[in-house]
Amino acid sequence: MQSQIAIPQKYGAMGLDELSRRIAARKDELGDSLCILAHHYQRDEVIALAEFTGDSLKLSQLAASQKRAKYIVFCGVHFMAESADILSGPDQIVCLPNMLAGCAMADMAEDAATAAPLEEISALTGEKVVPVTYVNSAAAVKAVTARAGGACCTSGNVRNVFAWALDETGGGGQKIFAIPDEHLGRNTAVAMGYSLDDCVVYDPLLPCGGLSARDVERARFILWKGYCYVHQLFSTDDVTNVRSRYPDIRVIVHPECPHELVQLADASGSTEQIIRAVGEGEPASRWAIGTESNLVNRLAKRHADRFIRTLSEAPALCAQMHRIDLPHLLWVLDNLAEGNVVNRVSVPDDIARDARVALQRMVDLKAVGEATPTRRRR
Ligand code: SF4
Repeated sequence: MQSQIAIPQKYGAMGLDELSRRIAARKDELGDSLCILAHHYQRDEVIALAEFTGDSLKLSQLAASQKRAKYIVFCGVHFMAESADILSGPDQIVCLPNMLAGCAMADMAEDAATAAPLEEISALTGEKVVPVTYVNSAAAVKAVTARAGGACCTSGNVRNVFAWALDETGGGGQKIFAIPDEHLGRNTAVAMGYSLDDCVVYDPLLPCGGLSARDVERARFILWKGYCYVHQLFSTDDVTNVRSRYPDIRVIVHPECPHELVQLADASGSTEQIIRAVGEGEPASRWAIGTESNLVNRLAKRHADRFIRTLSEAPALCAQMHRIDLPHLLWVLDNLAEGNVVNRVSVPDDIARDARVALQRMVDLKAVGEATPTRRRR
């Protein structure tokens, strides 16, 4: 867990209008030397001040392309800022407004920052195991992935990365070790035509992940036992409830949701795929979306001619993303304008060198454009 120094009290005393005005003034002052990137799950007031918004893949690509910006201020969570640091130029500086903005899912795979879990699994089979690591992971895990011949993926291109990992001309594996999201791994395997029996779960709290040689031998996908608590909030009852109220509603969910929920939905997709599907929807169409609520509420405002709501009655908010706010953003920009770099995210060279290989494979393997239709059971 990173630590964050307390910012001066004056920032907390300012209202949103004043903070926004001051941030806009600092942006003018810093000009082309500054680029603010914001993830879709950020608050509206942060999104409004960003130069670019996107999901993990898009923001990674943007970070790599912002050659003129000396400072990249990343309004997202820690692993995203690490990826931006790895993919940006050597003279660029990446700052995260609040160092406490981590990712609960990424934290579940700390053990994967050593080669030990992969060695454990490989020792149980004669077949080649290729790690595929979700971008929601620490840079050290990405580096281990690259050293073992694997690649990173996002929810947008995970199918293509899995296909690459199993292809003779790609990763050349017979098995995939999917880290750290169990649900993304399982949902992707099934979307590719594999069965649930092709998947086993590796529990990092148990010796050998709780798996026997027989388990690993029969499996094609070994899934790290990790999850996103935001997407885990949604249930099959939410789908039943929303369909009983609105029979024509389309349910679209993120593939970080549990498998039984994805199977009940009409489609699943990354945030970019969800945004595209809803944007291409007919006027007056109805949508229930199983992903983070800031994004869903923004889509509802953008497409006021459609009925758009979060799948659950309760909001689905990421507490870590929420730690980025205007007081912290202004504090970072005030310091940069005065020549002080604060909250720099800098990945050590040896980790960055290897993690870059896994990230570059991810960037090179294109995203799937459309959300994936799922089998609908009523
Ligand atoms: S929404 Fe989930 S996966 Fe994304 S940053 Fe928050 S905890 Fe991590």
